[in-house]
Parts: sequence; C-alpha cells; structure tokens
Amino acid sequence: MQAVRTLSLDQAAPAAPGLARLVAAAEVGDPPPGDDIPLYAPRRKIYPQSVHGTFRNIKWAVLLVTLAIYYLLPFVRWDRGPNAPHQAVLIDFPSSRFYFFFIEIWPQEVYYLTGLLIVASIVLFLMNAIAGRVWCGYLCPQTVWTDLFFAIERLVEGDRRDHMHRDGRKWTAETYARKGVKHFLWLMVAWWTGGAWVLYFADAPTLVKHLATLQAPFIAYAFIGILTFTTYTLAGHMREQVCLYMCPWPRIQAALTDEYALNVTYRYDRGEPRGSVTRANELRAQGKPAGDCVNCKQCVRVCPTGVDIREGSSLGCIQCGLCIDACDAMMSKLGRATGLIAYDTDINIKRRMDGTQPFVKLVRLRTVLYAAVIAIAGGIMIFTLATRDSEGISVIHDRNPMFVRLSDGSVRNGYTVRIVNKHLKKREFALGFNGLPATLIDFVGLPPREDGELWIDVDPDQTRELRVVVTDYGLPPPASTRIVFRLTDVATGEQAEARDHFFGP
Ligand code: SF4
Ligand code: SF4
Repeated sequence: MQAVRTLSLDQAAPAAPGLARLVAAAEVGDPPPGDDIPLYAPRRKIYPQSVHGTFRNIKWAVLLVTLAIYYLLPFVRWDRGPNAPHQAVLIDFPSSRFYFFFIEIWPQEVYYLTGLLIVASIVLFLMNAIAGRVWCGYLCPQTVWTDLFFAIERLVEGDRRDHMHRDGRKWTAETYARKGVKHFLWLMVAWWTGGAWVLYFADAPTLVKHLATLQAPFIAYAFIGILTFTTYTLAGHMREQVCLYMCPWPRIQAALTDEYALNVTYRYDRGEPRGSVTRANELRAQGKPAGDCVNCKQCVRVCPTGVDIREGSSLGCIQCGLCIDACDAMMSKLGRATGLIAYDTDINIKRRMDGTQPFVKLVRLRTVLYAAVIAIAGGIMIFTLATRDSEGISVIHDRNPMFVRLSDGSVRNGYTVRIVNKHLKKREFALGFNGLPATLIDFVGLPPREDGELWIDVDPDQTRELRVVVTDYGLPPPASTRIVFRLTDVATGEQAEARDHFFGP
C-alpha cells in the first residue's frame, strides 16, 4: 500500500521550523525493517487533536460516569443497623470486613472475591471476543485518567496546533505560565484521586474531617502521596507508554482474539490506493482504481497513542474509536460515505474484496462458552451468598501435646474453637459434641451455666475464640477418632458443624 500523495492539513499553511520538526516527530514514520525493530523506542511526544463525534461522545459519557462513581461512591450511605458501619462500599481492615451495599464479606469468605475476579476476567474475555479492546478504549483507568489529563492540557495549552506551535518555538513567560497551570491542575486531579482512594478504607465523612485537621493516621497521608505521584506520572507523563510497555492485557488480548471479533478497522478495500481528491479524480478518469482515503492523516492526529490505523491493528491501538470520528468528519466534508474506518472484521474485508456479503457473527463457540461460564460462576456466587449461614465454627486441634494422659487413665485433647456470629444482634449458642461416648467437654476459663448447659454468647457481627478441653473417660482409651463439634443457635435452632480428631495413646 503506497501513498500516492499526502494532503496534510499542517502543510496547507506555512509552518514554523520548530513546528515542522515537531510535526515530523509526532507523525508515524516507517518502522525499521525486520529484526532491527527495537524492543523499546524512546517516547515521542504526542499531541492528539480534539475531535467530535459519536465515539468521542461515548468516551465523554463513560469518563463522567466512571469518575463520578470513583470520587462519590465513598460518600454513599447504607443503613446496616446500629452495630455496623453505614458506608455503602467499605474495606474495613480493623474489623477484617469488606462491605458492598447489602453484602458483607468476612475474611473466611475471601473466595467470593476470588470468584468475582474470575467472573471479571471472563467478562473481559467476552468483551474482547465481541468488540476487541473495549476495556482499553473506554473503561481502563489509565485511559480514563489520561483522557481527563488530555482535556486539561487542551484547555490550558490549546489544541494540537497551538500546543505544538508553542512547544516548537522559543519558550516565553506565557509558555511557562501555561505549563505551570497545567501541571498544577494535573497535580490537583491526582491529589483528589489519591484522596478518594483512602476514603474506601474508613468512614469517608469522618476521614475527610480528620485529613483536613491533620488528625488522620500517617498511612492515609502516605497513600494519598503515593497515589498522587502515580496518577500524575502515569496519566500526565507516561500515557501510551503504559499500554505499550507495562500492561499485559494487550499481549493476552492478542492471543485471545479471532477473525470474527469487531475491531476498529481501516477498510483498506475501500481506502486504497489512497490519494488526494484531485488525484483520485484523475485516476478514475483514466479508468484506474482510486481509494477513498485522502491521506489527510486526521485519523493519526486525533489518536491518543499516535497510531496510524491504516497500518493495521497494533499493540498501540487501544480501540478508542476516535479515528472513526475523525475520518467520518472528513468523509462527510468530502460528500463521501462515512465508515472508511469503522468497527469491522478482517474476514468482512476479505469477503467484500471477494464480492461476498459481509456479516457480523456475535454468537460463536467462544462467546457462548464465555457467557455460560459467567452465568454459571455468577449464579453459584449469588446462590451461595443468598443462602450462606449466618453463624460458623472453626476448630484447631492443639499441636503440642496432641493429647494428655491423666492419672485416672482418661485422655484429654485441647482445641481452639472460633465461633462466628454474622448477625447484627447478640446471639447465644450451645456447643455440642459427637463422636466419643464417655466424654466431658469443658470451656477453659468459662464456667458452665447453673443448669450445666454449655452456652456461649457472641456479640453482634463478631467472632469469639474459646479454649475447649475434651476428656474421654472410656477404657481402654480411644485411638484416633473422628469427632464433630456442633454449634446451635439457642433461639432459632440454626446449626453449624466443624470436624476434627480426638487423639489417644
Ligand atoms: S488508532 Fe484509532 S482506535 Fe486506535 S487508539 Fe488510535 S484513535 Fe483509537
Ligand atoms: S482520516 Fe480517513 S481519509 Fe484521512 S487519512 Fe485517515 S483514513 Fe484516510
């Protein structure tokens, strides 16, 4: 595919030498051939031009919604009763709990988070099988914050052309002032980002007050500092470098995609051979083929990662669709049909070139499999969450000694028992024991009630740990025997069990 002639908008007006140099550096050149392609290329500054259109509007909407969720969610309240925090989403390290609206995850239920990560991964695979790197282009935090930083940059330093002009000529006081304001605003956004992050780990309104009055714990200030630095560096300075060199997803995605996945695609069957309008008319008049691409490079100029989509799919293309908007605008201006760049598949391009009808095949073996795994794993998680016990018991047998032989010949084993009460009210439990016929069970440091029953009360939403001693008076003493501790809620009769062993000589 050889460019016939380049009609560059930057060439349409005389450019300052500095600007010309920047334009040359900012536009994509041919990579070195074959094995000479370096593993790391020094960063060249990208000046993405603003663009209007459907995909830009979608990106604005996603940016507003995702940022609003991130910054405001810690302030959303959720009434869980008098003995629990009222923050809808809270990672409560001191109490070892994760709260998400009506869901409360205990440390021993951390497998739900593992399940959530698995489901999230498969959702990512499904998105990829349907429409390529949708996550990268619209939802990834790196994309969202970089987009926000680009918007601030354009606001302060102007759009691509103004910004390049200023950077290309000798810097004046105005240039320094604009750059100072830009970096200040970037740092403010980064600081808010770090500040919002720590609010997920404590009661947000209280922590805000403590942060403002310098009464918050040091760790909160430390994390705000770390996240301010990472946000400012990643979104302000590293930008596309994160996608190109740091993120594993583009590599994984490339291995997971297939020829039916919709991707932002330059329809070279329609665009090539590219050339100016005049040249295309001349070629057509001579009966020669001419494509619709006028080589205006608007698609390259709006690209936040500096990719030329006409070179084919690449690691650098985050599939944001902005080049579609840019090209559609150009096609509309020229009175040609839009869609020279569009969501499409390689297979469709080949079919069009063969004269067969293109098609979109969303229902395929892999999309059905991904959807099935999401439905099954999600269904299991929802079912187990809805039906999980509100009480629990775990038992750890003493390791040393495994048993003690008493002077009367009886054998004693010691256990550490932890009882869990997930209700938001105090509960009384009876602890029963099965497996050995002639047995006495005793709580260390906890006298039995007057009626001799072994009842333990556990505070709301708490656990209680007990030392329990089991003595077997049977003769001869038992060998290793399987036993069961049974916990029963005295009021409701709800039960939980834990199995262990009783060891003898
Ligand atoms: S080539 Fe197009 S879709 Fe890919 S990152 Fe650039 S603008 Fe976005
Ligand atoms: S914006 Fe469209 S017409 Fe212009 S160079 Fe890109 S593909 Fe060609």
